[in-house]
Amino acid sequence: MTTAFYSHPDCRGHDMGAGHPECPARLDAIEDHLIATGLAVALERREAPAVEMAALGRAHSSGFVAELRDVLERVAARGEPCAIDPDTVAAPGTWAAAVRAAGAAVAATDAVIDGAVANAFCAVRPPGHHATRDHAMGFCFFNNVAVAARHALDVRGLERVAIVDFDVHHGNGTEDIIAGDERVLMVSIFQHPLYPYSGAVPMGTNMVNVPVPPYSRGAQVRELIEANWMERLDAFAPEMIFVSAGFDAHRDDDLGQLGLVEADYTWITQRVKAVADKHAQGRIVSCLEGGYNLGALARSVAAHLRVLIGA
Ligand SMILES: [Zn+2]
Repeated sequence: MTTAFYSHPDCRGHDMGAGHPECPARLDAIEDHLIATGLAVALERREAPAVEMAALGRAHSSGFVAELRDVLERVAARGEPCAIDPDTVAAPGTWAAAVRAAGAAVAATDAVIDGAVANAFCAVRPPGHHATRDHAMGFCFFNNVAVAARHALDVRGLERVAIVDFDVHHGNGTEDIIAGDERVLMVSIFQHPLYPYSGAVPMGTNMVNVPVPPYSRGAQVRELIEANWMERLDAFAPEMIFVSAGFDAHRDDDLGQLGLVEADYTWITQRVKAVADKHAQGRIVSCLEGGYNLGALARSVAAHLRVLIGA
């Protein structure tokens, strides 16, 4: 059984302008490094399909989906970008990228549940974990992980899924969508205070939010994960695990002030995989979120993938 690697050329077509850290080169850096390290040959490459509108409607309000589609299709037709918030730009290629990003997460979920692959990584953009039920924000348009988790529950009939978020920023969008949905346990770490300045007080009993002070290093983060995530994940016994895989808590990433290194991403992935192997038949779907230092991003994704592959 193999690890699937989902992506699509359209995910590179979403370009928020010169100098924007959430840039198409992120995916090139990942792919180049996978080729250079020989990891690419160990992955089963799959093309991400476009998501169905009904799948988006399981995590977002139908009004939001219709409105965002309208805005993004008009931007694509006009060929001129339009700012959604100070950090988030709807560009002509955004709609095509966003439907492939969410579509990758849903297709990966199906492939893993069907047993076609052991687990999957979605190298996609735009990222998703800041997208709330009703708002695009923070470089995110649709919440890829929440859409996939709801697909697993509502369409594929799973009863319990976990969402693990180790991006340096709090996954406020995912929390907004799944807080109070007792079929989902979300565990996260994030620097606090930092954008979007939420998460210190969890919005539901199914949320395990672990704020981490700036300048914390790997050892402290590992201790907090061990103490706060592991018992809850074990007791919850998820049938599948979704990962919001952001690599911007890396020491070399300028968007946060945490000090993780590649070995910490290896360790976190091993801890998540241990839960998946014990309770969830190894089922993991991991989706790229942040990670803006290109070299650190590429090396950290490789570390994450090595564990998923079992190399
Ligand atoms: Zn982030």
